[in-house]
Amino acid sequence: MTKNNELLVQPRTAAILMTYQCTAACDECCFSCSPHLTGTALTYEKIKSFLDQVSEIPSIKIVVFSGGECFLDFELLKQCIQYATQLGLLTRCVSNGFWAKNLEQARQKMHSLKSVGLHEMNFSTGDSHQQFVPVDSVLNGTIASVEESLYTCIAVETNSSKKFTAEDFKKHPLYLEYLASTSKEKFVKVMPATWVSFHTDNVYDFNQKIEYDPNDQGCEGMFDTISLEARGDVVGCCGITSNDIEEFHLGKLSNQNLDEMLENHQNDFLKIWIFVDGPKKVIEQVAEWTKEEVPLYAHKCLYCAALYNNPSFLKAIQENYLTVKEDVLSRFLSKSVVFNMAGA
Ligand code: SF4
Ligand code: SF4
Repeated sequence: MTKNNELLVQPRTAAILMTYQCTAACDECCFSCSPHLTGTALTYEKIKSFLDQVSEIPSIKIVVFSGGECFLDFELLKQCIQYATQLGLLTRCVSNGFWAKNLEQARQKMHSLKSVGLHEMNFSTGDSHQQFVPVDSVLNGTIASVEESLYTCIAVETNSSKKFTAEDFKKHPLYLEYLASTSKEKFVKVMPATWVSFHTDNVYDFNQKIEYDPNDQGCEGMFDTISLEARGDVVGCCGITSNDIEEFHLGKLSNQNLDEMLENHQNDFLKIWIFVDGPKKVIEQVAEWTKEEVPLYAHKCLYCAALYNNPSFLKAIQENYLTVKEDVLSRFLSKSVVFNMAGA
């Protein structure tokens, strides 16, 4: 029995950011990935060590391989998927589809990964991605993936300024020819993904009814996913601002084991509060204490970054948290039970 069985919230997902290098350089990439970020890749030994510890946590069922672009070192990706499969874990890859220049190449790659156990494929596309990777490649990858009966999700970057939509993907001639109304279409899910501004001065418009996702219900991502990022840090969630929040970086595997890191992670009151109420509600309460205005963001993770990077918010939490502690902890207990039952 591992120490992890004593954790109140049992994590369900592991993620591995294989590298920060990418064939694309999308203007608002949450990790600022680009072709120039060489030397940021994880080694097989580091990934293997993480997978070994993850496999000791019975509640974790799936490992997501992402980046950067995880297909850049295809043989490493294949080796890692094979090892994760041997450990009894399901696997998913997230890619921009650059490698699927034609259907034949796409089929070879998908067949190769399916043969070592790949279970699901995710692609990202949209206006920014398509400056670097044509949507035809994503279509080729999608067709090859569903031909291998892999569950395949396509995330289309979305805000009111974006021209290419999820509907456009389904109207593409390759989609209509190979996927629409076929028995394989059930394996495909095309969905909008909120695209927010990180590194530029772009101010995007969001249709609040369909695009605004502040998450008022608490953020389960806080304790659901444990990730290994490309420089070797274990990170407590895989949110898009996780690299901007020092407190989410739990340490290096070489210095501490995963059980200890997770235990410390779940013993942190602010993280518990975010898990229970979500960062927007937390900020609303804290802004009442500091008498500051509540900022408005289109994505829940931006609230987390705003909370952790505002010293006056953190000071106010330290000074006032006892007034909400009992209520938050009691709801944490109830929510943990429901969360663990849903994952069982
Ligand atoms: S394809 Fe993905 S990882 Fe690569 S730059 Fe674009 S958003 Fe970042
Ligand atoms: S809202 Fe915060 S805790 Fe939740 S996924 Fe985003 S960064 Fe992580």
